[in-house]
Amino acid sequence: MHTKTFTALRVAGVAALALSGIAATRATPAALAPKLKVVATTPDLASIAREIGGNAVDVTALGKPTEDQHFVDAKPSHIVTLNRADVLIEGGAELELGWLPPLLESSRNAKIASGAPGRIVASQGIRLLEIPTTFDRSKGDVHALGNPHFLIDPLNVKIIAGGIAEHFAQVDPKNAALYRANLASFNSRVDGKLTEWQRQLAPFKGAKIVTYHRDFVYLAQRFGLQVVETLEPKPGIAPSPAHLARVIAAMKAADARVILVQPYQNRRTAETVARQTGAVVLDIPQQPGARKGNDTYFSMMDYMVSTLAGAFRGK
Ligand SMILES: [Zn+2]
Repeated sequence: MHTKTFTALRVAGVAALALSGIAATRATPAALAPKLKVVATTPDLASIAREIGGNAVDVTALGKPTEDQHFVDAKPSHIVTLNRADVLIEGGAELELGWLPPLLESSRNAKIASGAPGRIVASQGIRLLEIPTTFDRSKGDVHALGNPHFLIDPLNVKIIAGGIAEHFAQVDPKNAALYRANLASFNSRVDGKLTEWQRQLAPFKGAKIVTYHRDFVYLAQRFGLQVVETLEPKPGIAPSPAHLARVIAAMKAADARVILVQPYQNRRTAETVARQTGAVVLDIPQQPGARKGNDTYFSMMDYMVSTLAGAFRGK
């Protein structure tokens, strides 16, 4: 009986495989046209792509929400995903310099080649902050072209969403109207939320924060916060005891009492500094999905703003 069931299942499985092979080679009717295959390097970009693409797209993120987006663990499966992509959305400004180029080269997909309509570079159109005047890559600094952590400014997200809608419409013209309609509703939602977030943070203008990496400068600029120090001496370079001693002195002088960390950063280092300065360490992920229940850009930002407001209020 068991053997028979197993055999039946196996036969059914083989048949299903064969059928899927046939389906893939047969021309697909327009009504059942496959979804646009969109690959985003990071979960935040993927979240925005889903808002704009709706049911017409199938979105995959390469980086995990809990991973440092500068240092995503490149896997062979990423090459397959990129090979099948119709569209690739990357952050740009060298955010993915350490891992994306070799994957792209191996994927051999002209649709997402540099300059193709299927290639979207989010940093294009963004006014980057902290563009260095001189730069020495040998020192390990990973922000060579300016700060690439610009998605936590909602106004930057509107610019990026506009670019995504434009490219989607170009690659998939039959759904152009859908993409434009989704963009319009996304933008009005961002506007509404931005007003709400600004209201929540308005009482804390000038509030001081310390971050592990230089990853909150766009939020600070948008909402009038002040980044006093970073635990890393330079972006991508691990904190040294000498640098941390300077950070502690600066925090005491400025009376900064909030340290923000990401899931992949060394929380114990932050805790050590917090103990010596009377600060609190806040886990505020910048990627949707890093925290349960915060799976979209909006819920991630809701959590970020309310957690900061709570900390500044001193509750
Ligand atoms: Zn960075």
